[in-house]
Amino acid sequence: MTIEASNFIEDIIVNDLETGKHNLIYTRFPPEPNGYLHVGHSKSLCINFGIKQKFNGKCNLRFDDTNPTKEDVEYVESIKEDIKWLGFEWDKELYASDYFEQTYDLAVKLIKKGVAYVCDYDAEQIRATRGTLTEPGQESPYRNRSVEENLKLFQEMREGKYADGSKVLRAKIDMASPNINMRDPVIYRILRYHHHRTGDKWCVYPMYDFAHPIGDALDGVTHSICTLEFEDHRPLYDWVCEQCEFVNPPRQIEFARLNIKNTIMSKRYLKRLVENGHVEGWNDPRMPTLSGMRERGYPAEAVKEFCARVGVAKANSEVDPALLEFCVRENLNQNAQRAMVVERPLAVVIDNMGDDEELSFAVVNNPNNPDSGTHNVILTKNIYIEETDFALNPPPKYKRLVEGGLIRLKGAYILRHVSTELDGQGNPVRLHCEYIEDSASGGVNCNIKVKGTVQWVSQKYAVDCNLYKYESLLVDATDEITDFNDRLNPNSLELVEGAKGEPFLFEGKVGESYQFMRQAYYKYAGKKNGVESFYRIVSLKDSFNK
Ligand code: ATP
Ligand code: MG
Repeated sequence: MTIEASNFIEDIIVNDLETGKHNLIYTRFPPEPNGYLHVGHSKSLCINFGIKQKFNGKCNLRFDDTNPTKEDVEYVESIKEDIKWLGFEWDKELYASDYFEQTYDLAVKLIKKGVAYVCDYDAEQIRATRGTLTEPGQESPYRNRSVEENLKLFQEMREGKYADGSKVLRAKIDMASPNINMRDPVIYRILRYHHHRTGDKWCVYPMYDFAHPIGDALDGVTHSICTLEFEDHRPLYDWVCEQCEFVNPPRQIEFARLNIKNTIMSKRYLKRLVENGHVEGWNDPRMPTLSGMRERGYPAEAVKEFCARVGVAKANSEVDPALLEFCVRENLNQNAQRAMVVERPLAVVIDNMGDDEELSFAVVNNPNNPDSGTHNVILTKNIYIEETDFALNPPPKYKRLVEGGLIRLKGAYILRHVSTELDGQGNPVRLHCEYIEDSASGGVNCNIKVKGTVQWVSQKYAVDCNLYKYESLLVDATDEITDFNDRLNPNSLELVEGAKGEPFLFEGKVGESYQFMRQAYYKYAGKKNGVESFYRIVSLKDSFNK
């Protein structure tokens, strides 16, 4: 049975299967453990693991740990957790450092073939002689060292005879190549730095461009999928595979990075936000990291749906963050239980109820899910409604409660307003109302016309809670202001204290998502600073233009 390709990468794969070039498709996800994964990575994850699933292939997780100064086990652990959260399973967990010995041996092989040499230039000299897009580079005076001398020097580099940065191993390709990556690129450097896996065993480390094709080839990767900025590195990738004499070498394929408007998509900058204290950590609910989105309450399925809708393209573009929110909202609309929470409570006394009288109503948990059942809400004489659901001086077309007016309590009776108690400034502090008998759903008076339906909670049973409302971390760029640091949104977090929620909310699991009716989707975050808390996941309203 042939599988239908759904993008240009899959076209290549289908062709490779049909022509018998490969029988087993093997991909990998190759993060550098120098930070937490962000939503951009989820696109790469969906592509690589999606291919594994679709073509019944394999996909490894391979950490690119060739730069020990920036890497850490904390990041390794977080990356694994995030991939599992998305529901992907890697076949092997590998590290570029697993191959340091073989990588070294391949470098020796290249020296013996006369296509690599030890150069005594420092970083600055290498840069100065590399040439430009219009000018060729200059050959290093060390370029024509003998194989014997190169072997000896490279061995001594490994043994620690030379200072950091004093020598490098370079590939001997073409200083006049129009592709600057081919102008004798550095493939090994001297660096004394403790590595999170190999400790102090090595003081020479391979460069990414050398280690990457080697790791791919040794793992049996067939398609090495990466982002567009590596397109110019592909000739070097192929050169390394050829010089190492790999049989049936992997093929590098580039796709467009995911960019989202007003969203930082670089571990380096995200790290800065954490270090500067702009956010509470990598998993702050405002962060575009996978751990931040998980903390915020985004369902993993919604993130994957977002990646599917963005698709796989060869040209860079910027996606509207509203598309991600749309996917989150669609998912929660199907799956989140409905609940009533009053954000800014206004006290209401139902005058025609007894002091201890309790009336129980069954409320549908999720109208979109017939299996979700109902739960009971208890109406008592003293309740709260939302402050904004009553107006003394209603603006035109006001659809909520006014003096003498009617309103339906969600899931329960219709109330008629009787009188208003005001404070010294003339603001309403308590309303007096009466409920209309038999006005609940199915009752003889249930069809009385009302202006609207509002959420409410019983004063006796409601639980106090705080609501954390999030906005984008960045404000729009302008012609003058483009730098992230100048675009930080000072209002990215609003804390609403003293909200009142239905009691069942606090009996559920931490991490559970709800739709607070007429408000937004929220995640139960448990106690934060000693107070029951919810994080706003996403608003109810859709700003996405389909
Ligand atoms: P950062 O600049 O955030 O560190 P990176 O590209 O250096 O990102 P890596 O850890 O090297 O991060 O990324 C692992 C894989 O994820 C790579 O194959 C990379 O191409 C891919 N990736 C990273 N960012 C994006 C993005 N915004 N969209 C799609 N794929 C991405
Ligand atoms: Mg990187």
